[in-house]
Amino acid sequence: MNTDTKASTLDARKGSGEANLPLPTRYDQLELEAALQKKWEELNTYRFDRDDRARPTYSIDTPPPYPSGEFHMGNALNWCYFDFVARYKRMRGFNVHFPQGWDCHGLPTEVRAERTYNIKKREVSVDKFREICVKLTTEYIEKMKMAMQSMGYSIDWSLEYRTMDPDYYKLTQLSFLELLKRGFLYRGEHPVNWCPRCETAIAEAEVEYIHSEGTLIDIRFSTDKGSLIVATSRPELIPACVALAVNPTDARYVNFVGSEAVVPVVNRRVPILTDELVDATFGSGVVMICTFGDKTDVLWQHKHSLPVVKILDSQGRLTEEAGKYAGLSTSKAREAIVRDLKEASQVGGSKPLSREIGTCWRCHTPVEILSAPQWFMRTKDMTDQIIEQTNKVTWVPDFSKNRMIDWAKSLDWDWVISRQRSFGTPIPVWHCRQCGGILPAEKEWLPVDPRSQSPQAASCASCGSHEFVGDADVMDTWMDSSITCAVHAGWPEKLTEFERLFPADLQPNGLDIIRTWDYYLMARHLAMFGKPPYKTVLVNGMVRGADGRMMHKSYGNYVEVTEAVKKYGADSVRQWAAAGGSTGYDIPYRWADVEYGRKFLTKLWNAARLILSSLQDYDPDLPAPELDLLDRWLLSKLNNLVRASTDAFENFQFSVATDSARNFTWHDLCDQYLEAAKYRLYSDNREGAESRRAAQYTLFRTLDTVLKLLAPICPHIADALYSELWRDHLKPRSIHANAWPQVNEQLIDDESEKQGSTLVRLLSEIRRMKSEKRLSMKAPIKKLKIKAGEEAAKILSRHIDAICQIAVVQNVEIGQIKPATGKPESEREPEFQLAAEF
Ligand SMILES: [Zn+2]
Ligand SMILES: [Zn+2]
Repeated sequence: MNTDTKASTLDARKGSGEANLPLPTRYDQLELEAALQKKWEELNTYRFDRDDRARPTYSIDTPPPYPSGEFHMGNALNWCYFDFVARYKRMRGFNVHFPQGWDCHGLPTEVRAERTYNIKKREVSVDKFREICVKLTTEYIEKMKMAMQSMGYSIDWSLEYRTMDPDYYKLTQLSFLELLKRGFLYRGEHPVNWCPRCETAIAEAEVEYIHSEGTLIDIRFSTDKGSLIVATSRPELIPACVALAVNPTDARYVNFVGSEAVVPVVNRRVPILTDELVDATFGSGVVMICTFGDKTDVLWQHKHSLPVVKILDSQGRLTEEAGKYAGLSTSKAREAIVRDLKEASQVGGSKPLSREIGTCWRCHTPVEILSAPQWFMRTKDMTDQIIEQTNKVTWVPDFSKNRMIDWAKSLDWDWVISRQRSFGTPIPVWHCRQCGGILPAEKEWLPVDPRSQSPQAASCASCGSHEFVGDADVMDTWMDSSITCAVHAGWPEKLTEFERLFPADLQPNGLDIIRTWDYYLMARHLAMFGKPPYKTVLVNGMVRGADGRMMHKSYGNYVEVTEAVKKYGADSVRQWAAAGGSTGYDIPYRWADVEYGRKFLTKLWNAARLILSSLQDYDPDLPAPELDLLDRWLLSKLNNLVRASTDAFENFQFSVATDSARNFTWHDLCDQYLEAAKYRLYSDNREGAESRRAAQYTLFRTLDTVLKLLAPICPHIADALYSELWRDHLKPRSIHANAWPQVNEQLIDDESEKQGSTLVRLLSEIRRMKSEKRLSMKAPIKKLKIKAGEEAAKILSRHIDAICQIAVVQNVEIGQIKPATGKPESEREPEFQLAAEF
């Protein structure tokens, strides 16, 4: 604590009335946390050391969030997990690479810019629109960064990156060119999911399915063999009908197959086909194939080589193909077509239909399927490889792996990577005006924006023309963020570093982005490097409100991270994140958990004050003194705790690590040991000197170890108390630059644990008895009669001196309780029967 005024909490004792106390009475958590965060930053405590070749590296590929300006509780949980691992690994001797980026491009920011400034992207120039987006993004990043810093995350901010910066998107473009060269990318006209509001293609991962109530209407089609009824929920697509289909086993329609039907409204003649995918039990069992009502239509169009009728434009309005309905929105067209069909007596009955419909993940508009030239990555062909590699990666928890595999299997189409938007990485390609051939940019031209820049002195490879038009699209934002593993590792320039940092050791992210982030990272890096990008995926669940529902502003259960930090400090919120639930499962946000965290910190602070005040004359370099039973008891438990805690961190079980360290500190150290050791610490006679030193030795080691075990979870208080503990000794000042404690096998002693536990249970009983009689703990007992079970009585007989000293008893008599047999536990005698004369 050698920084300026903010550090005054710990130095305030100098010259104050508390000169003999190592710590101030009041634990001013917020002041302390802010001062430490500043100190860490100034000392570069979390800087990745590029020149260090001795320590092994541990690289964490953190998901770059969208700069929304809000850092919510779900984010806080995510980042706590990353930080627990980063801090633990640093203490385990790793050179930790913990970068932080911002996934700037894409729809979220564009939609926000449009709403904030009440504009449409088409109304302003590309450059102007980009400028607005950059400005908004920069503001939002600052807000989120402040929230992250207030939580004390040990991010190496020197590694910060923003995907909208030319230095970064140049790499996105470079990877595009590499993949294009290797045949992983192609341009083609295929049906894609389309958001009519955002006016862009979107990937399957960006379609969110919601429940919707619609109407199923029976429409009469006339055919050569009589009329057929077709049940449809989307009559507005009738003008795009290119065939009718029935199941080949459906006996009702055998006669119709092979003949033609007349599409109402547009009077087009279309074939009547069979296809085994037709569900004979749905509606009339006859379906109309429209290009494109849904994914099955896409499949049928392809399979039966049907014509394509493009009935919707980019804004979701009907095209010229719809004849008199051209220009209408889908809902208006539905009304008009149903009205016309009714007039022509071609509408039968109707009934309600509930179904799942796909919506745009960003603006929630129902998506349509449109066919237009787009860029694709050949991810479908990679499915087997992706699944094989997914199985080789460690997933925590293990079940989260299935999300990835199920997702990879469920994909019907290649990944559409072009977007008809402005704020994104430009596609580094020009198209020949003469022959339509493609001219990719040269590496040296990057970053480049073909929307405003011409290719440098190039001619078309096919026709020799010099006239090009730049590709007008930008890339899906996941194209930016799915190369992070390679970019962090130094690709393409620092290849020696790449060997050290790729694949990432840890890929931590929320359950909700497995199908996007984990999937795209895997596909992208397999295509580029033939290797999976990560070794372990650590998945966190979602944060629910206190009412059990997902946390959402509209539910009134939303809590701001900054609000929680202001109220209870970062170390309390971090304890909630660690202890709130098992890794990978949803966890509820409960103020009570944060409050409990805060109480624990106060308890620890007060206990540390007491311990530090008793260690003023202690020299940790002296050889170990002879230890008493309770010293051996505590140190044995402590070493078992180190083992359990290490296992828990190795397996990402943060709740186990936190609960075990807190329980030990609160109960074994504070409630039991400290109470029992007080008389030894304050004894000033010569006979007590050795015993006093043994208690000091035990407390010094225990506090030192406990602070280290707590350091990943509560980094602020751990660092503050650790600095005080080692204030007068030669040790690195920050706990975070120290080694994780080792298990000292020699101190693990089952017998001492057993005997010590019996003794502390008795001492608790005596304390309870004194407090029931409203007596001070120091109140002497003239005579104490103890009855206990055979084994406990034997143990206690061996420690009569300790009982007398600790509980201030002048005379003790120990007898046995007859062993209780055959009684249920609730009816058994208490463990000890006490009778005292005061
Ligand atoms: Zn949309
Ligand atoms: Zn050409």
